[in-house]
Amino acid sequence: MIELRKDTNAQYKLKVRRSIAGLGLFALEPIPKGKRIIEYVGKVLIDEPDDATSGQYIFNLHKHMDIDGAPRWNTARYINHSCRPNAESDVKKGHVWIKSKRNIMVGEEIFYDYGKEFWNEHIKPKGCRCAKCVTKRLKATKV
Ligand SMILES: [Zn+2]
Repeated sequence: MIELRKDTNAQYKLKVRRSIAGLGLFALEPIPKGKRIIEYVGKVLIDEPDDATSGQYIFNLHKHMDIDGAPRWNTARYINHSCRPNAESDVKKGHVWIKSKRNIMVGEEIFYDYGKEFWNEHIKPKGCRCAKCVTKRLKATKV
């Protein structure tokens, strides 16, 4: 079963802009620590076959429920991965919220950790472009 969930419930003013990793989502106003920023929406997949529930934008909620966040109206899809993020995902009652882990300043890009499985499969082969990994690689080449 597939249901469309389109309302992103953005709690703060945000903007999609160019970032080091293509496009990213940026805060247009300060976001205090521990607040819901935006909901990760898309096609809600309930008991769909496995081949429908794989891919870059799939968010697995539990065994029988996934969200395919690929549609462009899912603004949260523009949030990039970081190994040292300022936000995190939080699943509550079948909804995925992106929440701030610390205070986020105006103009800051929002990041969350996509998780080990995703990182190994999609990010590691290309090389992680988050600030933490880039700094680590720069230090390694200098030695
Ligand atoms: Zn990284």
